[in-house]
Amino acid sequence: MSFFSNIFGKSNIECPRCLGKGHVDWDDIRRLNQELKWAPGKCAYCEGKGAVNSKLAENVSPDDTYLTIDKTQIERDRYKANDEAAMRRAEIQEAHHNYLIKQIVFLYFEADLGPDKIAEFFMIDEASDPKRKEDLVDYILKVVEFKRQ
Ligand SMILES: [Zn+2]
Repeated sequence: MSFFSNIFGKSNIECPRCLGKGHVDWDDIRRLNQELKWAPGKCAYCEGKGAVNSKLAENVSPDDTYLTIDKTQIERDRYKANDEAAMRRAEIQEAHHNYLIKQIVFLYFEADLGPDKIAEFFMIDEASDPKRKEDLVDYILKVVEFKRQ
């Protein structure tokens, strides 16, 4: 704790999510068991600073799935302050994501569909978008790989 943080009553600690790097890489993602939920990028826990106020950990766990850099700054701030509506949005996103993973697992392992067909199933109401299909196939393969372990 520095002199200034003592004066202001704040204690800054090394960011427990990115370990002070300011960005989250695959090692961090594996350590925090978020392989199917996160991608590498700027750390949303410390906002890229590498350090956080120790009080943050009382509100939000470092491995919290919802708090990612793709959310708006306003949403991240609300979530860090335990805003009720933001927490509800986090629950909905988590439920939706877990359901998607369950569907992929069922379609691959039980219904015997290949990654291509599964991607087409999820895009059934969408206009053809080869890039989105490719991303979806990559994600499906990641889920399959992860569930095989
Ligand atoms: Zn961080």
